[in-house]
Amino acid sequence: MIGERLLRARKAAGLSLRALADAVDLSQTAINKYEKGELTPSSGQLLKIAKVLGVRTEYFLRSTSLQLEGIEYRKRASTSKTILDRISVDITDQAERWIELLSLYPQPPVSKFALPERLPERISSEEEIELAAEILRQEWGLGTNPIPDLIDTLESHGIMVIVTAVDGLEKFDGLAASVAGIPIVVVAKNWPGDRQRFTLAHELGHLVLHDRLAENLDEEKACNRFAGALLLPQGEVVKVMGTHRTALEVRELYMLKHEFGISMLGVLFRIKQAGVITESICRSWFMEFSKQGWRKGEPGDQYAHEDTYLFQGLVYRALAEGYIGESKAAELLKISLTRFKSERKLEGLHAATDQ
Ligand SMILES: [Zn+2]
Repeated sequence: MIGERLLRARKAAGLSLRALADAVDLSQTAINKYEKGELTPSSGQLLKIAKVLGVRTEYFLRSTSLQLEGIEYRKRASTSKTILDRISVDITDQAERWIELLSLYPQPPVSKFALPERLPERISSEEEIELAAEILRQEWGLGTNPIPDLIDTLESHGIMVIVTAVDGLEKFDGLAASVAGIPIVVVAKNWPGDRQRFTLAHELGHLVLHDRLAENLDEEKACNRFAGALLLPQGEVVKVMGTHRTALEVRELYMLKHEFGISMLGVLFRIKQAGVITESICRSWFMEFSKQGWRKGEPGDQYAHEDTYLFQGLVYRALAEGYIGESKAAELLKISLTRFKSERKLEGLHAATDQ
């Protein structure tokens, strides 16, 4: 058990056997034997190793060990194996703490994920993808309004959302998998909010569409279409833009971006998909985006980041209800007990004033 976790933590830290061995004054052979489970480190050694690898010693001793299943990375051939390894270690660690926290509750504090029964069994056209997004919006009580907090929406419907801050995520586009039967989606912490949201909606698309798509539809493209439809419903596009347009103002794209939390380019595609503009107008705008360098970074204010608060909230709730004590809470939150005690009392936070 310790061995497997040690290997994972070492990979997550990006250290070679030798680098770790040097840092803790042990031989490579010893580390290798620990990782293979042929030898068990003493508690003093484990403490040193934990320090170097930036994990708490409890990490090595945790009894549950989860496997990520059905990992689906958004296709980016350029994401290196090392980065993917690190991401997967971070996700496993976060997911394990989630599952442990849930197991400490006498009754599950979050609902189980279930797809709407009204979803068509077979989806074989783009119109049906739009319909699936519409059904999901209705079932989840979202109406046709902008979705203010997509992470919260997913979490309250039983999807585990993991926000990862591993280095080197520039080329990582998100991931869907499942762990212990719970679907999880992963996004990078530091991306602009509109990019995070598109990824979250795309990954939700996999959950909704995966077993339903007809062979003529490419799943990646279908999930992109679903994501656009979920974030910015066709009906809303037409309501704002009109049914037919031969010219657009770029500020219109900017305003819709900020209202619905989808990139300007995403808005452009939605306008085209709603049949408001022709393919050729869409293409000329696309070329304009490239020319202006907006495909790398869109102009103006960024859409706010999304973050997750549910896990932390449930740790505190468990503490308040007496399911766990302070040290378990600190362990779950991966911070020291001293820091936890201070955060618990809101120390260091200043009172709001009118000034
Ligand atoms: Zn995908």
